[in-house]
Amino acid sequence: MEQFKVTEIEKKWPFDKAQGKQEYDHTVIESYWQGVWERTGIYEPDLDKSQKPFYNLMMFPYPSFEGLHVGNMYAFTGSDIYGRYMRMRGFDVFEPIGLDGFGIHSENYALKIGQHPAEVAKRTEANFYRQLHAIGNAYSWSNKLETYKSNYYKWTQWIFVQLFKAGLTYRARSAVNWCPHCLTVLADEQVIQKLKVKSEKLSFDKLRIILSEVEVLKVDKKEQQKESVAVCERCGTQVEKRELAQWFFRITKYAQKLLDGLEKIDWSEKVKIAQRNWLGKSEGLEILFGCDIERNTLIRVFTTRADTIFGVTFLALAPEHPLVTTIGNRSNKLLREQIQRYVSDSLKKSEEERIGQFQDKKDKVKQAVKTGIDTGFCAINPINGKKVPIFIADYVLAIYGTGAVMGVPAHDVRDWEFAKKFKLEIIQVIKPDPENSNDFSQKAFTDYGVLVNSGKFTGLSSEGSIQSITKYLQKHHFGSIKAMWHLRDWIISRQRYWGPPIPMIFCQECAKDGKSWFTEFAGPVGKSSKFKVQSSKLDWDAAGWYPVPEDDLPVELPYIKNFKPTHSTHSAGSVQASSGQAGLGPLARHPEFYLVKCPGCASQARRETDVSDTFLDSAWYYLGYLILGDQKSKSEVSQRKSKNQKFRNWELEFRNSLAKRGRWLPVDMYIGG
Ligand SMILES: [Zn+2]
Ligand SMILES: [Zn+2]
Repeated sequence: MEQFKVTEIEKKWPFDKAQGKQEYDHTVIESYWQGVWERTGIYEPDLDKSQKPFYNLMMFPYPSFEGLHVGNMYAFTGSDIYGRYMRMRGFDVFEPIGLDGFGIHSENYALKIGQHPAEVAKRTEANFYRQLHAIGNAYSWSNKLETYKSNYYKWTQWIFVQLFKAGLTYRARSAVNWCPHCLTVLADEQVIQKLKVKSEKLSFDKLRIILSEVEVLKVDKKEQQKESVAVCERCGTQVEKRELAQWFFRITKYAQKLLDGLEKIDWSEKVKIAQRNWLGKSEGLEILFGCDIERNTLIRVFTTRADTIFGVTFLALAPEHPLVTTIGNRSNKLLREQIQRYVSDSLKKSEEERIGQFQDKKDKVKQAVKTGIDTGFCAINPINGKKVPIFIADYVLAIYGTGAVMGVPAHDVRDWEFAKKFKLEIIQVIKPDPENSNDFSQKAFTDYGVLVNSGKFTGLSSEGSIQSITKYLQKHHFGSIKAMWHLRDWIISRQRYWGPPIPMIFCQECAKDGKSWFTEFAGPVGKSSKFKVQSSKLDWDAAGWYPVPEDDLPVELPYIKNFKPTHSTHSAGSVQASSGQAGLGPLARHPEFYLVKCPGCASQARRETDVSDTFLDSAWYYLGYLILGDQKSKSEVSQRKSKNQKFRNWELEFRNSLAKRGRWLPVDMYIGG
């Protein structure tokens, strides 16, 4: 390292050249000193040995344009000031930077300007780094990373494989947010309400402090309801619902842990509130209603208002509810056809058209009209044995609760509208106070109060009766306390090109025999029994699915000329499409990419052709800065080794790097959005 004495510094100070001018010449002075910083490596802490580590992390930009924008600079400057402050206090500050250049933002930009994303990435990388050098932050340049380089995304894929093996990844068909313009699935966090375009972006990276989310809280509630419409955050097109087979991460398994964790961190209360709303826990009662659809069939209903149970006058099932098919099969031809038509019409509607306000084609705000079909079947209210009609109604959503609701028109606005339309009974069971004789026939009374018309619970307060009714139903095995979450599992699949190919293989032959990685490799008879998940315990059909063997990682994203997303559905000849019926990604047009040998039986199988969500790239980059540099310094040794050894032990390498550099974790400061 070069050592400077004061006199030496003065000698090197290029101010002499600039002295003729009156002004500070940043082009001369800043580039000179930035050169000195880089040559001397003063911002390159020893990651293996530092005694006073301070990890100063900032968001990394995604090139969705040619260069940085002012918002990037705004965030980076504050973050850098803090890093320099900690450095002056004697810490070894690690301040890395990189590019989050895989994913829909960069790909949409490439589509817009009509160039291949790989070429755009090359050009923007050079310009972003030129600008990031010029701003003079204390970056550790030797640890920069780009999410679209295979030395990075091999680990993104490796993480996917680990989660698959641990039972935290699964495949399911589900209604997803679909942008008809971007031709891809969007995470809930990528769907925004039109009024709040700038303020409602959320990421899964729990380290991110969602400063912008706080603004949402300030938006007037009524204003939001009046005009909000769900649109794609990238292009503003109204989002549709579609059913596709997708890969999911089981993040809901960690909902309670995330909620509890908020108690332990020193975030502002506003940010914590935003997080709690995002998790959206509601505790309530799951009630079992008997019915005459099939013998021994019970309908599960979730409610937070057990106090209103005596006011139930109908039961409504979502069109997606599994019992709807049974109802159709047990109905006469006319009704069956009616039901089928109703279900298929409902599935075409967006969530907003089903339950709230939406904009029609002329941009007029409209209120969703309640629709439904009386099935002719009945359910039995377990609290009083009363028979109530069962409807199929699309204001009930399958994704919330159990996909079935108990209709209490007197005390729920939507149920009230529905009951009015279908001329159903409205029984008042809650009053503000016992003496109140207000007329509630014009609208639902949704507040807490005192119970009336409620058998032996009459006279109790709402709060008190929720407890005693819950106890009563639990005792008689008609109810159990359940928690419902707003948080849903994370859909990882994207039917696009510019991302890490999802490292999975589907084998038709194995699928026929019910074989999968779980039966062939994970069980006690398989090669590895360290994973606890047994195929018999899986709650999804994994038949035919294998992760790409870890020794074959990365699955490189091939350069394909036509990277545009597909409008039409695509069929791959005799090989069954692995990505559902509609909306296959561009890689599905390339048999040289997707035709592979099955890791289980060696017959011809098919690679997954979807790529993973860009949020997965940015979910672990703070670890990437630590391990990638370590991998680089070791790569020569490992390569030599790997010629002799058949398999590289990825897990060991990952863990070793992290163990050596674990002193930097957890991240000490993160600033970003
Ligand atoms: Zn879009
Ligand atoms: Zn096979």
